[in-house]
Amino acid sequence: MSTTRLKNYIGGQFEDSDKHFSNIRPVDGTLICEVAEASKDQVDAAVEAAKEAMSGQWASFSVAERCDMLDKVADEIERRFDDFVAAEIADTGKAHVQVKNIDIPRGAANFRFFANLAREQQEKSWTMDTTDGQGATNHIVNKPIGVVAVISPWNLPLLLMTWKVAPALAAGNAVVVKPSEETPSTATLLAEVMDDVGMPKGVFNLVHGFGPGSTGEFMVEHPHVDAITFTGESRTGTAIMKNAADRLKPVSFELGGKNAAIIFADADFEKAVAGTIRSAFSNCGQVCLCSERVYVERPLFDKFVKALAQKAEKIKIGRPEEGADMGPLISREHREKVLSYFKLATEEGATVITGGEVPNFGDARDEGAFIKPTIWTGLSEDARCVREEIFGPVCHIAPFDDEAEVIGYANNSDYGLAAAVWTQDMDKAARVARQMEVGICWINDWFLRDLRTPFGGVKLSGIGREGGIHSLEFYSEPLTICVKH
Ligand code: NAD
Repeated sequence: MSTTRLKNYIGGQFEDSDKHFSNIRPVDGTLICEVAEASKDQVDAAVEAAKEAMSGQWASFSVAERCDMLDKVADEIERRFDDFVAAEIADTGKAHVQVKNIDIPRGAANFRFFANLAREQQEKSWTMDTTDGQGATNHIVNKPIGVVAVISPWNLPLLLMTWKVAPALAAGNAVVVKPSEETPSTATLLAEVMDDVGMPKGVFNLVHGFGPGSTGEFMVEHPHVDAITFTGESRTGTAIMKNAADRLKPVSFELGGKNAAIIFADADFEKAVAGTIRSAFSNCGQVCLCSERVYVERPLFDKFVKALAQKAEKIKIGRPEEGADMGPLISREHREKVLSYFKLATEEGATVITGGEVPNFGDARDEGAFIKPTIWTGLSEDARCVREEIFGPVCHIAPFDDEAEVIGYANNSDYGLAAAVWTQDMDKAARVARQMEVGICWINDWFLRDLRTPFGGVKLSGIGREGGIHSLEFYSEPLTICVKH
């Protein structure tokens, strides 16, 4: 990055501010850099710059020109791949292999994917009969909504932010983006990329800061923000919705999860164990889709718990650059939250099969936010640790005896984001999957994503769907033009 203090990017200019906050490495608690927290005036300026862009050069771009610009963004992310990898690793401490193979490539792929999709779109029209026999034709024109506020979390920083920025721009909008205060670096690199490829001024604006009483809230409440797209905690979604309610702003929310994995006795054992290790502990358990509730059919229960614990204990925890499988949690503050659930689980009667504590390295990593992968059994279905999202490397495993019982357990949740079903009986798999109250259900896998498919959750897990055409629909306003013949 070209600066040691990360700046805001407003109307095509990088801007410092009067207030700064520290960006801390979660691997050892050291300072990465300072970040300029956008003031209310700067948020206002960013929104106004976006609004102006909607009537400037950007508005005159053809779809093809817009999409070519997004391809250039993807090319430039790929050209600066190593910078993005280093920045994401510094902010999150996540495993090198994940950042290299998922986070950054998907960041670039999101721009290419939505550019291609937007190019393919055709305007629809219908002719209709009228009583005078002359008829009429209805043309549907998809217009951009206007200024879109993009508010994103820290767990997959570039990937989740571009998942929203790319379709919003492909649909012709201008954006004001706020990354999480925990992970400001790749968003700042993306602003540099936008600048370098010549994105018209004001189309992409970046403002750093926090949520309540800060940048996030200023964005949500701004009268010239026309739509809000948000990924984060369910209770933040509630706060945003309340603040957006007066102006009835459209919202797209991708929120929390308390996802179930169901392992039937006839599952391919090795694949189910390996899949559940991934689904429980990937990214230190900090993926909204992670399985925090694992249900195993009773004949397989003991064997499964033992095998999962053995594999969990082999996960190498440590620094990404030293080839660790699992990095730290995002921050000490988040570790306090996860540890409070570890304490609560014991109070609620859990048996700790493995983990449940902070590792002791005897070096600088002890100043970081590491925690051991943890497996519990023995909790009741109404225990808070079985009902509330923890967002750490932890799962509870419970036995079940029949299909109806486990469907009941899986659906007995305030959340409804994802589920994973492991069985070799495809009829049973299809039957169970169709009854899951979630946005996505995997059969014999986890985290496999086709970007064309709808993505989102039910209940506390979200509002609306993004992905493929669903994204373009959210970021567009259809106008019907009815022409009488
Ligand atoms: P968070 O809700 O704390 O913060 C997300 C973003 O919202 C941050 O940029 C934050 O600064 C901002 N924010 C906070 N309060 C705000 C307010 N009142 N107004 C405006 N903005 C505000 O979430 P997090 O801790 O960064 O991320 C973890 C959460 O995200 C988990 O609950 C996880 O399940 C969820 N998540 C969901 C998905 C999904 O696709 N469903 C994907 C990833 C993460």
